[in-house]
Amino acid sequence: MMIPKQLFYRSFSSSSFRLNAKLCDVLIVGGGPAGLTLAAAIKQSPHLSDLSTVLVDAGDLKGKIANFYHDPPKTFTNRVVSLTPQSKEFLEGTVGVSLMENRIQPFDGLYVTDGCSDGTLEMERDSMGNMVEILNIQSSLLEKLRVTNPAALDILDKTKVQNIENENPDDPQSWPVVTLDNGDQYKTRLLIGADGFNSPVRHFSKIESRGWFYERFGVVATLKLEYPPFKIRGWQRFLPTGPVAHLPLPDTNATMVWSTTEPLSRLLLSLEDDVFVALVNASFVLEDADLQYYYNALENKTITGPELIEDVEYRINEKFNSFKDDSLIDEKYPPKVIDVLDKSRARFPLKLSHADTYVAERIALVGDAAHTTHPLAGQGLNMGQGDVESLVKALENARTRGLDIGSLLALEPYWADRYPTNNMLLGVVDKLHKLYSTDFGPIVGLRTFGLNLVNNLQPLKDLMMGKVSGPMN
Ligand SMILES: Cc1cc2nc3c(=O)[nH]c(=O)nc-3n(C[C@H](O)[C@H](O)[C@H](O)COP(=O)(O)OP(=O)(O)OC[C@H]3O[C@@H](n4cnc5c(N)ncnc54)[C@H](O)[C@@H]3O)c2cc1C
Repeated sequence: MMIPKQLFYRSFSSSSFRLNAKLCDVLIVGGGPAGLTLAAAIKQSPHLSDLSTVLVDAGDLKGKIANFYHDPPKTFTNRVVSLTPQSKEFLEGTVGVSLMENRIQPFDGLYVTDGCSDGTLEMERDSMGNMVEILNIQSSLLEKLRVTNPAALDILDKTKVQNIENENPDDPQSWPVVTLDNGDQYKTRLLIGADGFNSPVRHFSKIESRGWFYERFGVVATLKLEYPPFKIRGWQRFLPTGPVAHLPLPDTNATMVWSTTEPLSRLLLSLEDDVFVALVNASFVLEDADLQYYYNALENKTITGPELIEDVEYRINEKFNSFKDDSLIDEKYPPKVIDVLDKSRARFPLKLSHADTYVAERIALVGDAAHTTHPLAGQGLNMGQGDVESLVKALENARTRGLDIGSLLALEPYWADRYPTNNMLLGVVDKLHKLYSTDFGPIVGLRTFGLNLVNNLQPLKDLMMGKVSGPMN
């Protein structure tokens, strides 16, 4: 299915609006992780910091999001991502951001299992990744910008981009003119789309985006554990409906992403807390047939909550009692979940999308505006960080060579650098999703063989870890 196009085509206009438009060098639409990182990176760069830069976002950046840094909640929010060491290094080392370290949980490996077989992949590596709340990233970037108060940067929050047109409708190289919902207009040398999956800037640029919805939803939640993890690592189990991931946060907290079908995601959101918790525990330990039985029984109301909880407990105990060595339980299964944070359950539609190019005359796309991916490998936000790093390098090169930063000549090295890397990752994640979305015997046999093979071949394992978390130091 093609991703639908909406508003904001390069449009024709004869109005006199341009007379009052304010001028800027860079206008960034979107103050998500990608847009805010780009604004901070531009202001940190000795070659770019003098560029007059405007960032526009519909959300409450200066209020709710910035306050997260100064008055963080005691509990953990539900939008948590796995940040690779490179992305963290870029944010902290290059951009100069001080993330709220006490809310970050580094993890030392991943334990991946197949819900339909005994296939296992155990990856171990010190600080393989970092579980970080998206609000931590955004608010730390805003704090950096507040403290350094760089010249020539305007952040316009609670403001929507309403329209984008070329100054001269007949000339796509002419500067884009962006109209905001407060009536202001900006004419910009370079327009950045950091405006997410439905990117108005991408629609304006007429850059095609191809892809499809997976007909799956990612259910997220903040979990409370019975005891702190024995090994601080992520756990992912591939069920035929999609992978369920249990990822560590500081102390006895954890976060989850359970990718599943639309009806099951709705069911998971509708359950009482204790029934939901029982199903999460069951999803990592019991057979898929048991889980199917629970889903059906809950849908058809042939089991009550207390009955399900008792049954799950009984079956898990039965399984654990079969282990001769108790320590194996902590090796093979994540710590028991005992509660889910109130109102922390939410679901997001999962999709693959990739723009044909990330650049056009006076336009560049970064982050989800350029690509979206299934969260099973935790790459979406990291890809956006890689885009920003690369775009900043391209702009710096252009600046030192005296090029117009909005010209295709200046922007093309960015897309040439990022497109192949992102395309490869999107392809691999898509194939993994497809490979694991079946319980068809021969496929299960093949993938189990593959998973166990990788598990036993250290060089291949290192290569895979390098792809998802970066090369070894
Ligand atoms: C369940 C789930 C789990 C995930 N886990 C991971 C993970 O572990 N690791 C990882 O790397 N990634 C993960 N991701 C992906 C990650 O969350 C996204 O890739 C990332 O948040 C996208 O950031 P962005 O800044 O590109 O876009 P967004 O966060 O979508 O920001 C776009 C911004 O543009 C603004 N905007 C849009 N239109 C307008 C307009 N007209 N006017 C003004 N402003 C506008 C919006 O207000 C928004 O703030 C996950 C995603 C999901 C759904």
